[in-house]
Parts: sequence; C-alpha cells; structure tokens
Amino acid sequence: MHPMQEPESGPVGEPQRQAALDRLQILDTVPEQAYDDLTRVAAAMCNAPMALVSLIDRDRQWFKSRYGIDFAQTERCIAFCDYAIRVPQQMLVVSDTRRDPRFRDNPLVHLGRGIRFYAGVPLVSPDGFAVGTLCVLDSRPRRLSKLQRDALEGLARQVSRLLELRLRNLELREALAERDRLAHQLAKLASTDALTLLRNRRAFDVLRADQREAPTLPMTVVMLDIDHFKAINDTHGHAVGDQILRRLADTVRSVLRRDDEAVRYGGEEFALVLPGTDGEGARILLERLRAQVASLRVPVPFTFSAGYAEVRPGESGIDPALARADAALYAAKANGRDRIEAADAG
Ligand code: GH3
Ligand code: MG
Ligand code: MG
Repeated sequence: MHPMQEPESGPVGEPQRQAALDRLQILDTVPEQAYDDLTRVAAAMCNAPMALVSLIDRDRQWFKSRYGIDFAQTERCIAFCDYAIRVPQQMLVVSDTRRDPRFRDNPLVHLGRGIRFYAGVPLVSPDGFAVGTLCVLDSRPRRLSKLQRDALEGLARQVSRLLELRLRNLELREALAERDRLAHQLAKLASTDALTLLRNRRAFDVLRADQREAPTLPMTVVMLDIDHFKAINDTHGHAVGDQILRRLADTVRSVLRRDDEAVRYGGEEFALVLPGTDGEGARILLERLRAQVASLRVPVPFTFSAGYAEVRPGESGIDPALARADAALYAAKANGRDRIEAADAG
C-alpha cells in the first residue's frame, strides 16, 4: 500500500542493545501505574493527545505504557522511535511528518487521523543502551516549547530510572534465589554421607528429634551391620572396604521405596526406616537385600546381619523401636552372623 521507508542500516551495537532490553524482562508485561502516570503527565505537559513508553524489540516496537493510543505494538520498520534511539543523548522532534522524507511514506502518518507530530526522548538502560523512548505524538503539525522539551526529558529520565530499578530488582531476586539454592545445596551436603551418599547420622538424629509424635503405623525400623568388616579391611585394604560400603549402600537404595529412609548410622552400620511396612514386609525386603548382596560382583564377598523391630502403637518416635532392632542385630551376630532377626515380641 504505502512503501515503507526502512531505517538505512541497523545501529552499531544492536545485539548488545537488544541484550540490554532483554535483561529488563519487560516485554509483554502487564501495564504498571508508575509508567502510565508518566505518559499521562507527558501528554499533559506537552498538551499532546498521545504519549508512549515504547520499547524497540527485534522486529517490533512494544508499548509498556500508552496514552491515547489503542494498539499495543507496531512493526519495528514503521516505528518513529527506532529513529529516535539512534542518537541516545538527544530528543528527536519531527514537527511535520509529511514534510520529513524519513516519515512521509510511513503508514502511521496516513492511518486514521494520522501522526503528524512526533517528539521522542531515548530511554537509556543502566548499561547505556537506548532501549526505547518516551514520546508524545499529535495528529497535527506543531512544536514544543523549551519548557515542554525540558519537562519531557526530565520525565524520560524518570522512566529510565524505573527501568534501572526494575533491573536491580531482578538482579536482587536472582541473587536471593541463588543464595537459597546454595543454602539448600549446603544443607544437603551437610546431611549426606560423602562415601555412601546416604543420609548421615547427624541428619538422622535431627530427623528423629523432630519426630516426637506417634508415627503412622505400621512402621518398621532396621539396624544392619556388615559382618567381619574389620577383617576385610585388614586383609584387602581400606579402599576395598570403602568400595564394599558404597556397593552395599547402592544395593540398599535399590530395594527401598520412595518414603523409606536409609542412614549410614556408623562406620559399617546402617539404619533403615520403613513407613507403611510391617515386620513381615521388612523381613521379605531384608531377605531380598541379602540375596542381592550375595550376588554382587565385588573383590571380596561379604555378608551382613540385621535386626528389625516394628514401632508399637502408642510409642512416640522411633527410638524405642531402634533400640529393639539394635538388640535383634546383636542377637543375629551372636547367632552366627549372615542372619536377619526379628526383635522379641511383646
Ligand atoms: P562384626 O561382624 O561383629 O560386625 O565385626 P566387624 O569387624 O564388622 O566389626 P568391628 O566393629 O570390629 O569393625 C568395624 C570396622 O569397620 C572397623 C573400621 O575400621 C571399619 N570401618 C569403619 N568405617 C569405615 C570406612 O568408612 N571405610 C572402611 N574401609 N572401613 C571402615
Ligand atoms: Mg560389623
Ligand atoms: Mg559395627
């Protein structure tokens, strides 16, 4: 329809300028009073029917705030503001668009009432890039007084300040999120046993201290200890011992359910907490674990002994059951090792 006059060539540093705009994460956000106040004041100060906070995106201009204009964006190639941002330190004033060779063929000049007057002040990002403009428009040719120009420049500085605050806010939020991530990581590290990656004893003690109320039953706890581990260490070396600990931990993890908890309770001693599992279920799980351990391909075959105990109705926390499971483990050792013993009933 109307031949559009393209900006001759992209401004220098366009990728950096676009990056500065992207960092603001402002495109397509909802209207904000702070920006709307400034466009309204700009229009009033300049006695203009239209005012915009326009941001120049890759191939469009998008309006963060618009006064007297009922569309939210246009193609970049017809944006007056795209010319304005080329000289970031300076206001662009077009007194009559029909007399300006850059704009006279622009469809915005001819659409509806048409835009005949434009004055835009570049909005400069904290890192010094012109990301858009604060501009006023009119449907008739005209001028701005010195006072109006100064006021428009002052308002543009306020918009730039809003953009800077927005960026600082985003950075702060990011820093806080990063801090939370690190704190979470640290807590995870502090509660994890480095060799087996199971929960460590300290974290388990905290967990137990936090659970003083009656657990949901059934629940069974297990104490498990590698047999003759000292001899394995002494004969084959500490590294082989470590490898066995890791393989056992992996095997334990593989037989557990999601809510089950495995803890490296001591050197070669592990505690398991099995919510929703009764004694019979625990025995089946432990026998399966025993079979899997027996078939592990490790430098030295090894066995373990285990004792298990159900948490009884009315017991607070799992400590009494842990003590019974430990006694059962002791019995398993006494009865010849490579055994699984239930705690005494009653
Ligand atoms: P039992 O069958 O009665 O349990 O005999 P045991 O030899 O397994 O028990 P004991 O308590 O006498 O020895 C435990 C050994 O576990 C001694 C210690 O050096 C070893 N140990 C503890 N922590 C680690 C570890 O992180 N890595 C290695 N390689 N060995 C460890
Ligand atoms: Mg042992
Ligand atoms: Mg032991």
